[in-house]
Formats: sequence, C-alpha cells, structure tokens
Amino acid sequence: MTSLNRFSHPLTFNILELHNRLTTKGFTILFCWIPSHVGISGNELADNLSRSATNSLNSPVPVSDVEKYVKSILHSKWQAQWDLKNTNKLQSIKRLIDCWPSLPIRKLDTVLTRLRIGHTRFTHRHLLLGEPAPLCTACRCQMTVLHILIECPQFNLQLIR
Ligand SMILES: [Zn+2]
Repeated sequence: MTSLNRFSHPLTFNILELHNRLTTKGFTILFCWIPSHVGISGNELADNLSRSATNSLNSPVPVSDVEKYVKSILHSKWQAQWDLKNTNKLQSIKRLIDCWPSLPIRKLDTVLTRLRIGHTRFTHRHLLLGEPAPLCTACRCQMTVLHILIECPQFNLQLIR
C-alpha cells in the first residue's frame, strides 16, 4: 500500500489544506467527477482554464504522476504507430497494444504464443533445413497456422465447433 505523505502527493495535500481552510470558514465544498471533456466545447474551455490555473500554482508534481503521464503518452504514440502498420501480419491478431494474459503453465504459454504469431516447428522447420515449404495436400498452398486453423476446408472438417 502506498503511503500518503506531503512529499509524494504535494498537490493532494495543498487541496486538502485548502479544503480544510474553507470548511472551517463555513464553506461547503462539493466535488464533482467529470469523466471526459473531449469534444464538448464548453468543457474544453473549462479544461483550458483549469490547466492555465494550475500552471500558475507552480507546485511540485510527484514523480509517479509524471511517470504515469509519460507512459500514457508513449503508449498512445506506440498504438498510433501500430495502427498504421496494416500490412503487418500480427495486426490481425493483436490490434491493441496491451499484454495478453499469460497461462500458468509455461509450456502451454509458449505453444499459444507460437500459434498466435504463426511460427511453429511444422510451418517453419523448412527454413532451418533449407527445404521447400510444406504444402497442404488438399489446397496445394503453403502450410501456415492460419491455413490450418481457419482457411483450409480439409482441416475445417476436423474442427470441433
Ligand atoms: Zn488446405
């Protein structure tokens, strides 16, 4: 559990002190959570005003807040770059940049990852051995994980749905 102290959360403590000062003078403070201001012109104006107000406070910002902000910006930029890579074969199986849940058994996790990225010993062994790629006997096309699991009518007959 993270401890709350003046040095780790200076802005929070400033707000608490201000809240205490005002309530002891008889003011009633009502906090409202506004989830998003994007796209609403009046709210965007309020955002800009609040941003300019906090700029003039010149109060220290906790490192953890800066880290979260930087991570969020980097993640957005990474996602934007990934969205542009529509010719990447992994785009179709992983549109959002986030972690897949891992399986508790390492061997199964490895097998699942190999199936997701389409790299298996059966489909890629020929590259190491300098042999021709394995072909589907029914379709005469190159064997891929996608072909075996999704495309091939021969294998589709054997799938349990
Ligand atoms: Zn086939």
